[in-house]
Amino acid sequence: MEADVHRLDLNMKWSPGHVAAYLVEGDGLALVDAGVAPDGNQDGEEELRAEFEAVGHGFEDVDAVLVTHPHLDHDGYVREVVKKSNATVYAYEEVAEPVDIGEVEENAREKVREAGIVGEAAEQAVERWLDGVRKNVELLPAEAIDVALSDGETFEAAGLGFEAVHTPGHQKDHLCYACDDLLFAGDAVADSFRPIIYNVGFDEGMFGSVDVCYGTFDRLADRADETRRVYPGHGSVIEDLGAAVEGSLQSLDELIKDVRTTAAAFDEPTALDVTFARKKPEQEIGHLIFDNIAALGYLEKQGHAESYVEDGVRRFRVTEA
Ligand SMILES: [Zn+2]
Repeated sequence: MEADVHRLDLNMKWSPGHVAAYLVEGDGLALVDAGVAPDGNQDGEEELRAEFEAVGHGFEDVDAVLVTHPHLDHDGYVREVVKKSNATVYAYEEVAEPVDIGEVEENAREKVREAGIVGEAAEQAVERWLDGVRKNVELLPAEAIDVALSDGETFEAAGLGFEAVHTPGHQKDHLCYACDDLLFAGDAVADSFRPIIYNVGFDEGMFGSVDVCYGTFDRLADRADETRRVYPGHGSVIEDLGAAVEGSLQSLDELIKDVRTTAAAFDEPTALDVTFARKKPEQEIGHLIFDNIAALGYLEKQGHAESYVEDGVRRFRVTEA
């Protein structure tokens, strides 16, 4: 049976201003993501409902909800859809494990300091990170996941065959869903931009996130021949997965190069120093810092930089500029 895909476009208050969900019709109806709110767009539920109606459906018709990753622009309305439909919810296996907020806070406090954020700004950064985690847990609690998917696992939903493809980088629990020659990509790859590398956020392993990203791009590139069309969370539908991955790889290479040049111009910068120096006036440190932390970690792994921690703050030194 061939899948019939309807794209649902939703407005979002923050960049890039919109997010897509997809209704995938086979024998039944699968929904890939259901995002936005709270406060990303107050009218989001009405919009989602209207998008459903525009393609002749209601929330109650959904048999399966496939969540790409637990960010509210992708899972904000999962519960509302499930309330009406009793649909089966699928997500990556780690999303089905309870989150220990105390542990998240402790790690965040340590890692925020390590990044060079101190004083009032450190409190704000920790609070902001915790707020995001709490929101995600509230919108998609562990117990809301009916089927915890592992990488490569195949399953049937709406009478269609799907494969879960673990694609961390933007977020550690990120899945793409392959359905025959279609790929529902979430935020793993987009047409005209590269989603930020949050991956683990302010947590252990944050310096390893670029390697994780490269791994994901390699995996996606390997699927380019068998993939006819890609439905991303943001931006237009992609007809050439290979080219889109190539664009993301270039963007990642440029990030690393630019972070290297910027860090070299400093005397032992922190991740915060590098982020400030690289950011455009309108850009927010809160999000960008993750790209910069990841790039600095990668430079160190590659032997292009060294770092040491003093008084809880990590400083980098580019060894060959
Ligand atoms: Zn997103």
